[in-house]
Amino acid sequence: MKRLLLVGGGHSHVAVLRSLGEDPISGVEATLISPERFTPYSGMLPGLIAGHYAHRDCHIDLAALARFARCEHVEDAVTKLDLTRQVAVTTGGVERSWDVVSLDIGSTPDMAGVPGARERAIAVKPVHRLLAALDELVAGARRGVLRRLLFVGGGAASVEVLLALQYRLAKEGARDVKMLLATDADAPLPGHNARVRKIFVRVLADRGVRVHAQSRIVRVDQDAAVTDGGERIAFDSLVWATGAGAAAWPGESGLATDPDGFVLVDDTLQSISHHGVFAAGDIATQRGHPRPKSGVFAVRHGGPLARNLRSALAGERLERFAPQRDALGLISTGDRYAVMSRGRWALKGAWVWRWKDWIDRRFMRRYAF
Ligand SMILES: Cc1cc2nc3c(=O)[nH]c(=O)nc-3n(C[C@H](O)[C@H](O)[C@H](O)COP(=O)(O)OP(=O)(O)OC[C@H]3O[C@@H](n4cnc5c(N)ncnc54)[C@H](O)[C@@H]3O)c2cc1C
Repeated sequence: MKRLLLVGGGHSHVAVLRSLGEDPISGVEATLISPERFTPYSGMLPGLIAGHYAHRDCHIDLAALARFARCEHVEDAVTKLDLTRQVAVTTGGVERSWDVVSLDIGSTPDMAGVPGARERAIAVKPVHRLLAALDELVAGARRGVLRRLLFVGGGAASVEVLLALQYRLAKEGARDVKMLLATDADAPLPGHNARVRKIFVRVLADRGVRVHAQSRIVRVDQDAAVTDGGERIAFDSLVWATGAGAAAWPGESGLATDPDGFVLVDDTLQSISHHGVFAAGDIATQRGHPRPKSGVFAVRHGGPLARNLRSALAGERLERFAPQRDALGLISTGDRYAVMSRGRWALKGAWVWRWKDWIDRRFMRRYAF
């Protein structure tokens, strides 16, 4: 019996599990280790925060999916890989051995080197903690104790969560919360084209959001975030949504990583340093094809990863995979309205939101077990 170990129930591994269920591999015992039963689908999170979706609309039930895949689900987190013994160790002290292992553990916002951030900020990941913290913020705003809410980070996740939360606050009668956004770029959404950036500058201005551009937060005090220019931005609560950071344990276990700690893989999604070890989604950096850390690319990894895990278990040749150069971005503005961004193109409207809603719900239907 060969052992396949899946670490993390992210966007790529759900495709692997589905494939195992649809086309079982005989002589293979599969295990999924992931700490939560429900894994979020990132594309629908802003809609959940705004109140357009319920929790079940945008979370995949890993226990049900694992049952369909005839895969054991261990609700735990891996803290270390012993690459010599081919064993993963969890926080609960459980050891699981593998013939082939795959990591799809995502990322968390990078707070390293910013004193006070870890203690005082709400991170956008892990998502279940973000959602609980946002519920508390809404309750605080309704009691009148939340007046200034600062978002750090100018990327799509930061802007979308800010606008979604603002929409929900208004719906719940808490209109007096001043929303602030700090970014080290010239304007929000630096990874997108000028038209998209212009649309969001306008949307944020229309909604009264104060944007601090070219403002890198270097320290977080009790009541203010301090920028590299020495400005103090006062806040009551702060949400941290900067670029992705990697867990330390894959690199500490001995896997080759890029300078930021993401696991370096080749075009087969196999580690460049260790045979039989695969990585996908945010935690992987494909050598020669670096791409933004986003759910779109994590989803795209799913198919080739599923096929290559099968081939690796069978001792067959692995397929090479080149990710597309740019991805379709559908960025929502909180109010059932969205902006499409691709290359130099920008389109906007309520119809873009309906299109996004259709794509997202179609994705979720694939995982409704
Ligand atoms: C609020 C928000 C909105 C976003 N919106 C979009 C969007 O609209 N479009 C888009 O493309 N991207 C979006 N992103 C980015 C997107 O969430 C990530 O790029 C995507 O989730 C990465 O998928 P993944 O499969 O790598 O990991 P994830 O989906 O994060 O899944 C990782 C899984 O691994 C588990 N795990 C973590 N550590 C361990 C461990 N040590 N052991 C075992 N299991 C572990 C986690 O519990 C989780 O289930 C958004 C991000 C945020 C925060």
